[in-house]
Amino acid sequence: MTETSFDLVLSGGTVFDPVAGTRTVTDVAVNGDRVARIAPSLAARGREVVDCAGAWVLPGLVEAHTHIFESVSKVGAPPDEAHLRRGVVAAADAGTAGASTFAAFERFVVRPAEMRVVNFLNVSVLGLIDFRFGELLNPATLVPEDALAVAREHPDVVRGFKIRLSEDVVGPAWRSLLKTSLQLAADAGLPLMVHIGETEEPLPEVLGLLRPGDIVAHCYTGKPHGILDDGKVLAEVLDARARGVLFDSAHGKSNLSFEVARKAIAEGFLPDLLTSDTSGRNWRGPVFDLVTSAAKLRALGMSMDEIVPRMTIAPARLLGLDAEGYGTLAEGGPAHVTVLRDTPETTLPDAAGNSIVAPRLEPALVLHGGRRVETTPWRGLDQDR
Ligand SMILES: [Zn+2]
Repeated sequence: MTETSFDLVLSGGTVFDPVAGTRTVTDVAVNGDRVARIAPSLAARGREVVDCAGAWVLPGLVEAHTHIFESVSKVGAPPDEAHLRRGVVAAADAGTAGASTFAAFERFVVRPAEMRVVNFLNVSVLGLIDFRFGELLNPATLVPEDALAVAREHPDVVRGFKIRLSEDVVGPAWRSLLKTSLQLAADAGLPLMVHIGETEEPLPEVLGLLRPGDIVAHCYTGKPHGILDDGKVLAEVLDARARGVLFDSAHGKSNLSFEVARKAIAEGFLPDLLTSDTSGRNWRGPVFDLVTSAAKLRALGMSMDEIVPRMTIAPARLLGLDAEGYGTLAEGGPAHVTVLRDTPETTLPDAAGNSIVAPRLEPALVLHGGRRVETTPWRGLDQDR
């Protein structure tokens, strides 16, 4: 009697189950597009075996905040190149497209991408086309009926709404624009992602308006009106979290301060969602990609056990992608797998001109639905050329 064989066995890695909150040194066997077995000693039965000793074997990474409306938006990064080839198998574009530009987003990004793409629809019908001209400076561009219609027609893609609450985007009308956006999100039954940093108003004023499940992006911003006061996390921030408001690390070109992150993490204030806020303006540095953002937060005090669920199951649940098998690694489920290895120490920049020396995380093998993805080297390696 012969035992069944497997197409591929990832052998001896540290395998995370972020749903159970466990990790085990074991083997993962893949057949076709499915995870066939997770158990020790499967290597002898693999038609192909990849030695994963010393590596982290994770569910395929899910990015809840990025900008991938390439060629249309000035901040659009290439979806597969900036994400899939760096270990991210599913991502949410955070407000680059609005109702009037959504059809192009679906046609030129969502459909052709190899990775799974969903979005937070910008509450402005324009979306974020050109960062020099705030998309809500003309408040009439917030047309709730248009946004609601797109969300209802495209439930496979639209998983929330986004408002950029920066002074140069919303102007003085921030409060009424935020309230209208919250009503729109309530009507659609979806969360609202609110970008802070460059906001005019104190954060507690904004937090007081948000509902459970809404998301505050850029929680470690070093700009005024952040989460800290006198080096301590604001009581209103902790209250908002207790009510179910979510906080997103969203590195971005200018919104991760190592100093703020280090203090907040030391106090136990971790992001609910670990995201990169990759864009056409930062994917060659200082952000680079999601795994580099994760390596920075690890260097600032988060453990891998804390990091992994925040870039797998937590965003998958928020985006409704857990129903498609994203964010988990389970027998019988789709084979979305990202294997990461620690690199030697590298100098990593934040968004405020500081740097830290720490090992990075580098994708060694990526499977999306069982299909092997070609990975690409870290873009920071080109910096000296
Ligand atoms: Zn963003």
